[in-house]
Amino acid sequence: MSEQAISTEELLSLPRDEFINRCKAWCDEFNDGKPMQTSEEHPCPVHVWVVYNEKACSQDTIPHIAQCPVCDQPICPDCMNHSVHQLSRVTGYVSNVSGWNAGKVQELKDRVRTDLK
Ligand SMILES: [Zn+2]
Ligand SMILES: [Zn+2]
Repeated sequence: MSEQAISTEELLSLPRDEFINRCKAWCDEFNDGKPMQTSEEHPCPVHVWVVYNEKACSQDTIPHIAQCPVCDQPICPDCMNHSVHQLSRVTGYVSNVSGWNAGKVQELKDRVRTDLK
């Protein structure tokens, strides 16, 4: 399979849906279709896209939470920002989140606590 080479900047300039489709294609090709593993040093490309395109969140509170189609982490359904712990009223929406495993919720709580220090 020969993929056309594309620079990071070109990638990040793509429209959101197109960018996400590319990321999903990577997951299919390199990761058995599983969600991408991300960490502090290796953030999800979708989040990188959000930051690069300076998509500010217009939501003060989030009525529901979405899951990133690429890394499977909770995201804001509006702007797709992955830094959900930076958004206001975290506890309010954590309780709205169903289907999260306890570990993920605990991790979020820990992060919030760290931010408050
Ligand atoms: Zn948002
Ligand atoms: Zn993601």
